Amino acid sequence: MAKKRSQERDRESASLLLENAILALLSERERSAVRAGGQLVEFQLRQSVYQPEVPIDAAYFPIDCVLSVVNRMEDGSLIEVGTIGREGTTAIPLIMGANTTANESFCQVEGRAWKIPAKTFVALLEDSRDFRVAMNRYLQAYVNMLGQMAACNGLHSVLERCARWLLMTQDRVDRSDFPMTHEFLAAMLGSRRSGVTVGAATLQGAGYIRYAHGKIAILNRGGLEATACECYRVAQDQFNSLVQLRVTQERPPIDPSPMSAAPERV
Ligand SMILES: [Zn+2]
Repeated sequence: MAKKRSQERDRESASLLLENAILALLSERERSAVRAGGQLVEFQLRQSVYQPEVPIDAAYFPIDCVLSVVNRMEDGSLIEVGTIGREGTTAIPLIMGANTTANESFCQVEGRAWKIPAKTFVALLEDSRDFRVAMNRYLQAYVNMLGQMAACNGLHSVLERCARWLLMTQDRVDRSDFPMTHEFLAAMLGSRRSGVTVGAATLQGAGYIRYAHGKIAILNRGGLEATACECYRVAQDQFNSLVQLRVTQERPPIDPSPMSAAPERV
């Protein structure tokens, strides 16, 4: 009975890991190592993930939570510099050989993540070329996103950025509503609260979102997409390319002959 329960748990965690696009890219062997060495954790709203210059003890692969990477200025103000959801991992500093980060990160939308100790992550990185390739692929997409967000924060209006941010968050949570306050959105966009309040009211007035009791519901994605700056499309292409890779890999081979049973890795 106990064995049956543990088998069920194994099956459940095996399919949960596939929810994260980077873990889904791995071969079964590597994913088993990630599963054996890790555990499922739950992040609460605003829970800290990494603190600046504090040694990183674990890597997280979001399943259905969204994490924010923020820069805190000397006066205490915050601005979001990166968003990590089911398309990625918090392990960027570890991939680059560091064990601390200059940025702070915390949970923006609560949910689950797969946690593996930093030591296990680094060992996998050193031992498996395929693991390294998958992590580097994400690193490249993440760096592209950082560049796009820097340009966006400098050049685009609060309204455009509000729409872009809401769409990017929804892509990662994969549901139509999530917790949000004006203060938080203003902090994420590095804007004044009043500007964000006007932006949110405009989007609500147009019927694109509904905002009440600290929750935001997306009612019309098409409207938000038309309002968002070009940065959303660029970020979405990056996001889709990561999630798409997973879909491509999961597709069964058309010809079950031995030659095509092992599809070429992309
Ligand atoms: Zn923009």
